[in-house]
Amino acid sequence: MNIHKYLVCCLAVFTAAPAFAADIAIIHAGRLLAVPGAPVATEQSVIIRDGRVAAVVSGYVGASAADAGADDTVTVHNLKNMFVMPGLIDGHTHITGELSPRSKLERVEMPDAEVALRAALYAQRTLRAGFTTIRNLGANPEVIIPLKKSINAGYVEGPRIFAATNGISATGGHGDSHGLRQEILDLYSDPGICDGADDCRRAVRAVVKSGADQVKLTATGGVLSETDAGTGQQFYDDELKAIMDTAHSLGRRTAAHAHGADGINSALRAGVDSIEHGSYSTDESFRLFKRNGAFLVPTILAGVTVMKMAEPDDTFMPPPIRAKALAVGPQMMDMVRRAHKAGVKIAFGTDSGVSRHGDNAREFRLLVEAGMTPMEAIHAATVNGAANLGKTDVLGTIEPGKYGDLVAVEGDPLSDITELEDIDFVMKEGVVYKM
Ligand SMILES: [Zn+2]
Repeated sequence: MNIHKYLVCCLAVFTAAPAFAADIAIIHAGRLLAVPGAPVATEQSVIIRDGRVAAVVSGYVGASAADAGADDTVTVHNLKNMFVMPGLIDGHTHITGELSPRSKLERVEMPDAEVALRAALYAQRTLRAGFTTIRNLGANPEVIIPLKKSINAGYVEGPRIFAATNGISATGGHGDSHGLRQEILDLYSDPGICDGADDCRRAVRAVVKSGADQVKLTATGGVLSETDAGTGQQFYDDELKAIMDTAHSLGRRTAAHAHGADGINSALRAGVDSIEHGSYSTDESFRLFKRNGAFLVPTILAGVTVMKMAEPDDTFMPPPIRAKALAVGPQMMDMVRRAHKAGVKIAFGTDSGVSRHGDNAREFRLLVEAGMTPMEAIHAATVNGAANLGKTDVLGTIEPGKYGDLVAVEGDPLSDITELEDIDFVMKEGVVYKM
């Protein structure tokens, strides 16, 4: 058979078969916040074709308005008594674990497969809480990459995952392993641990090779590492520059865990794209945030959670962790208030895994307590969440071309933000996961 015949034959088959049937979802939204920051519209229809938003139109329309063919499947969702908005984005999660008195032992007890199966449950809870996308900032690549792929393939229910794999950390830094016998620590080989600019270039390349969508680094000490090395800067400036430049050259955005002002400011000067926590940010930090257009992901919920865990005299937290939790936790609320006043761009993130998966929306009321309006808090979890991922083309609003991700509640989250703690309807790429 010559090539010409082959093409003719296949084109014939292609045209003779029925056109590919589309899955069409039409959502009748009583109130629609299609673009957070813009006004709410009433009595709208959102038309989703094969997982993507095709159109947003006024009034409640039927299949004919969706250009549905005879073979297409059309499902109409009646949300006429609901407030509909884009799917939520949590910009800082750890979906593969959850902090408990047992977490330390689990690290040496649980095989990866068991961790992954449990993470599937956490992913389902997160999705049903309205979070259709997460940025997972640090996990074993053997677990997080298969979980992400399994969700994309439809094997398990969960949010769309943008994953960091191993965090980039200095030896003995916040992202290194601590608190176990030395000969057990010696068994860990972590490609993200690096010292010196050249070694940090290698580490970034290694985590990108392992499948990382973005690069997470620990620029300062942190609360939950079992070491009394504080919460100040842990990488030298040349190491930070090497990390950012290598990540950016490979098309990856960077997220720096940072509490101390020295580490926050150095990471910003080195060109980091987001600061996670940012507890001791100063006016100089806010100036650098704005100069670079970097995002702050405050994770107030994590601060509140570790503080509560650390308070009892019989806390399970080892002394160095307890001391850091009691010092850092109370900083966050006031810092967010100052950052917001200064005009820093804030993206919603919870550090869930410190708090329970599925409780992510509790961050909203904390952001509002820190001075954001409910609309600003929703904007942080949608429009800014998408921008912080570099994905404004497909995420963050309900507009043509974007993923058909939307959530709905019966009440009005713009007058009571805690409505979002109990989401009534969740759709991801046109598929309903909760109603
Ligand atoms: Zn974290």
